Amino acid sequence: MGPDKTISINGAGIAGLTLALALAKLGFRVVIAEQSREISQFGAGLQVSPNARRVLNELGLNEVIAAHSFEPAGIDIYRHGKSAPLSKVTLGQFSKERYAGTPYAVMHRADLAEQLYKATKAFPNIEILFGVTQTRVEDLGDGVSVIIEREGKASYPLTARAHIGADGVRSVTRTEVLGGRRPQYSGYVAWRAMASLEQLGKILPKDRSALFWGTDYHMVVYPLPQREQFNVVLVTEFALPLEDTDTPEISNKSLSKNKTLSSIMESISEPWTAWPLFNVKTDTWFKGNVAILGDAAHAMLPFQAQGAAMSIEDAGLLATILASETNNAIAFGKWQNLRQPRANRVQDQSQRNGFVFHMSPPLSWARDAVVAGKTAEGHLERLDWIYAHDAFEGMLISKSPKN
Ligand SMILES: Cc1cc2nc3c(=O)[nH]c(=O)nc-3n(C[C@H](O)[C@H](O)[C@H](O)COP(=O)(O)OP(=O)(O)OC[C@H]3O[C@@H](n4cnc5c(N)ncnc54)[C@H](O)[C@@H]3O)c2cc1C
Repeated sequence: MGPDKTISINGAGIAGLTLALALAKLGFRVVIAEQSREISQFGAGLQVSPNARRVLNELGLNEVIAAHSFEPAGIDIYRHGKSAPLSKVTLGQFSKERYAGTPYAVMHRADLAEQLYKATKAFPNIEILFGVTQTRVEDLGDGVSVIIEREGKASYPLTARAHIGADGVRSVTRTEVLGGRRPQYSGYVAWRAMASLEQLGKILPKDRSALFWGTDYHMVVYPLPQREQFNVVLVTEFALPLEDTDTPEISNKSLSKNKTLSSIMESISEPWTAWPLFNVKTDTWFKGNVAILGDAAHAMLPFQAQGAAMSIEDAGLLATILASETNNAIAFGKWQNLRQPRANRVQDQSQRNGFVFHMSPPLSWARDAVVAGKTAEGHLERLDWIYAHDAFEGMLISKSPKN
């Protein structure tokens, strides 16, 4: 396949692997340069909302995602200082029907990455190079020249139509090739732990997620039955630097007032893994024949659980546009115009959720009254703009003449 049908990608994370699959399905040759020696097992649970699942299904992944994910029946919301839920959100079958048969699911990030990686194996036109130490990119005007350096191996030269940075929050494609800014620390650390399904199942329902609002923390807990575990994420406000010995802190007052929360904290036997949260804001998603997507372009707080989902949406649409428009400037421009307002809006909402989740009285009283006033089925309405979205903007891969 010639350079005009070859795409070079930096990063085999969620965005890079999804983009590779979508491009390969559309007849492109794809070469991915990944710095790790294998697909990363790093991470914890993530939520695959209907908007992301629609893209994954279009790539033929419905069954494998279903086999490795769990569809919670709902979310129980707890307010600060109370052991019983303030409100219950219905998901499960209700949500599936609301979003045209597409479920809301949770899964481990490593399982999602692994299934995407396995799916790439079916495509001889996808090549993944691991252990990459450096990728040098030169824009040739009518394409790119890429030289990929690897540990203990000869350089890998490549001429491609475009180079896409899917290299995450600390993207060198953004900072070094596009001249974009470094990520900004958000002031929050997400502390992650896995708890046994059996043990935590004595405190929380095994088929539901839970969201705890505090005054200077919030916690998200959901079951991952395939792994016999609950995923627990506690978010606290935290001034860097972070030391290896640091642990999350919730005041004793908060814990003593909420028995459910204190029981969860007591049931965590493994050390917490600290994940400082960063935002990426940049208007420049492409220059010449080089573009960025996913966290590289718009890393966001996980408080709307949309970071991976936005990466998956980005990838699906970028592939379909590159397949239908041969001029990179037009293709990237069109893609950016469609994606940027949505990514910005989701990024803003994620930020706002941090404020809302951590409210103290009297603001929290008003928040609680609004939330308690909703029916279990009424909560999703406010999120339709996220979950009902068609990332392909009507340009479904299965309807492409090239598929
Ligand atoms: C606590 C927490 C919970 C979250 N929960 C959710 C959730 O529920 N739902 C959700 O949608 N999102 C969630 N997210 C966010 C989500 O994990 C990320 O937003 C998403 O994985 C972004 O995908 P990406 O491919 O852009 O980046 P990544 O998945 O980070 O992948 C980047 C890849 O590029 C590689 N790389 C980096 N630099 C280079 C280089 N120079 N050369 C070659 N390779 C390179 C990396 O090794 C990696 O493989 C959560 C995040 C946090 C912190």
